[in-house]
Amino acid sequence: CGIVGYVNYKLNRSRKYVITTLLDGLARLDYRGYDSTGLLVDGDETDKVLPYKIIGKVAALKQLINDEDVDLKKVYTTHAGIAHTRWAANGVATLQNCHPLRSDVSWRFAIVHNGIVTNYKKLRTQLASEPYQWEGETDTEVAVKLAMHLYDQNAGIGFAELACTLANKLEGAFSLLLKSVHYPGELIAIKKGSPLVIGITSQDTQQMSSLPVSYHPQRFVQNGEAIINSANSTHSVNGTSVSEPSPMWAHEYFFAS
Ligand code: GLU
Repeated sequence: CGIVGYVNYKLNRSRKYVITTLLDGLARLDYRGYDSTGLLVDGDETDKVLPYKIIGKVAALKQLINDEDVDLKKVYTTHAGIAHTRWAANGVATLQNCHPLRSDVSWRFAIVHNGIVTNYKKLRTQLASEPYQWEGETDTEVAVKLAMHLYDQNAGIGFAELACTLANKLEGAFSLLLKSVHYPGELIAIKKGSPLVIGITSQDTQQMSSLPVSYHPQRFVQNGEAIINSANSTHSVNGTSVSEPSPMWAHEYFFAS
């Protein structure tokens, strides 16, 4: 599979910019998966997202979004989206298995995922006593439901802490992007074994270069299995929470795996 993500901080990007960025990224990765493709961007309210999925290639997803007449002019101060092109590993190529996968019908958590979570059957069994409505067969759905489960079990948990806990429970070689309506304007990338690339841009390069090197995204990639990038002020490196006095250490993050 191929995954692409985007988040900005105080850049006032339009929905068109975010969707185009995701589709352009997917188009470069479409040799990585031909079964189905999908993307998700922020909705009009912070507790809503706009998901689009299709059995087919990236060009078909682009057409679907055109046909749906999405409000592309909408601008937000922070704006995030995730996208995926799938080569089915666990579960056949159906819309139910097509990413982004959701935790529940309200899309409280959403994941795009590249690779395999090897202990997903065990984790799914552990979640069997919960009243969750399972929609497909993927390991990814187990990961996204587990994210929701951790949120519900740990009142007030920060997004970074939740992601690190999740990362520690998932075995295998994979990378994934996690987004939640409970943490608007944030996007978290987790990698284990698989490569993941983060691109950053900033209008305030002085502030970026003054940060200790251990806070830079490339260090997160090299040193940690869980990589945290968000517009928020708390980051986590190797499970240790790091509070930034100023969250504005980059304006845009681009993810690909
Ligand atoms: N395991 C995930 C799925 O089956 C990701 C697939 C992949 O990376 O090939 O949907």
